[in-house]
Amino acid sequence: MVLDKLGDALKSSLRKLTGKTFIDEKTVKELVKEIQRSLLQADVNVKLVFDVTKRIKERALSEKAPSALQKKEFIVNIVYEELVRFLGGEHKPLALEGKKPALVMLVGLFGNGKTTTTGKLGLYYKKRGLKVALVTTDTWRPAAYDQLVQLGKQIDVPVFGVKGEKDPVKIWKKVKPKLGNFDLVVVDTAGRDALSADLIKELNGINTLVQPHEALLVMAADVGQSAQQQAEAFHKTVKVSGVIITKLDGTAKGGGALTACSVTEAPVRFIGTGEKVEEFEEFKPKGFVGRLLGLGDLEALLEKAKDAIDEDRAEDLGKKFLKGEFNLLDLYEQMQAMKKMGPLNKVMKMIPGMSGADIPKELLDVQEDKTRKWRFLMDSMTKEELEDPSTISGSRLERIARGSGQSISELRQLLKQYKQSKKMAKLFKGAQSEKGMEKMMQKLQKGQMAGRSRKKMKF
Ligand code: GDP
Ligand code: MG
Repeated sequence: MVLDKLGDALKSSLRKLTGKTFIDEKTVKELVKEIQRSLLQADVNVKLVFDVTKRIKERALSEKAPSALQKKEFIVNIVYEELVRFLGGEHKPLALEGKKPALVMLVGLFGNGKTTTTGKLGLYYKKRGLKVALVTTDTWRPAAYDQLVQLGKQIDVPVFGVKGEKDPVKIWKKVKPKLGNFDLVVVDTAGRDALSADLIKELNGINTLVQPHEALLVMAADVGQSAQQQAEAFHKTVKVSGVIITKLDGTAKGGGALTACSVTEAPVRFIGTGEKVEEFEEFKPKGFVGRLLGLGDLEALLEKAKDAIDEDRAEDLGKKFLKGEFNLLDLYEQMQAMKKMGPLNKVMKMIPGMSGADIPKELLDVQEDKTRKWRFLMDSMTKEELEDPSTISGSRLERIARGSGQSISELRQLLKQYKQSKKMAKLFKGAQSEKGMEKMMQKLQKGQMAGRSRKKMKF
């Protein structure tokens, strides 16, 4: 895996997030800081880092999670989406269809991996069923022709060129008539140490002659952030339609080249991840970011975290409830645990005395809906507020409602429910003594509790 240091750092930040029970502004800010640090360490440009993390922060703080997702799951998704966007968004495959042959020309400076990539690209499309040929127009390097012939043998693809010929234009004119039967022709060109006037002239000449459908700049990852300048300079000269970043296996700082190019008019189309011809893949931002963040692992992790919390808490909750000292945090946990146990009617049947209760379906649906809304509300509260809901009033009411996308009246209902539950808990506490039990029975018989609970109790 390339950029595995960056991947590890991001994974660990998300793991921290998913391990938390409550997500407040502070948690989001911490996450964003960590992501910033990780991206900077991977050599991503400071301004770009700032832009992407700003978006993550703004979305995480302002957007409402869809009902099926917890806030933290939603934030993981925001991080994923923004990084995908950051790396160029939708993947754009090479436009090879309907051309015979489709012409792909590779350009770039010395030693960046052009010739190797010519072979890699040939193999990639050969495996996908295209009839491929390779052409070398590199007259600059003495061994260029032999190097490509060698590669062609390795992948079993014909190679065309004119050994000893010094003029790339003449080479192309000579080989072109032989290419009509192929689906794809990959043309290797000569490089220089820099984008010199001499190289520009040569590339312009060959570009006009070949008129490739795709001109791709091959650039090694270790050029870092200067990748953008290089891509733009080449783009001006030969209108490169995309970039191939090679040698991503050799550096922890490949984030610089990848992101710098993704924002240019010539986005990253392929990446080279090793010296071998198979070590090459199409650059698909979604898949790439998914692997980077280990989204496969993360799902399992989310499950595990939930289980761990539920088990630990179940015991505590029971004790707290009986002591009459449970707060909103506990109510939240209780709701979470109940959600895990399954649909509400099943849960109700597990409660002694309720097993025969026939609860109308509409009521249960309303309840499920409430549970969801209340989860959003609680996700927007600070830990302090959850621990001591009496602190929630005035501007805090507004802030919580706004942050959760719910109404203030919904929030008020939740707080009322909490007070009711607390009262219930106190009653249970009292019932633990014989006398208390008697009192409770009396109350129940008088219909005080039953009547009230039917109207007001939400559970
Ligand atoms: P050119 O001068 O641009 O044609 O570059 P070459 O194709 O000759 O490659 C220069 C060196 O880079 C060779 O030693 C290649 O094996 C190596 N190389 C090319 N692509 C990769 C890659 O993705 N990863 C690694 N590790 N080495 C690569
Ligand atoms: Mg070469």
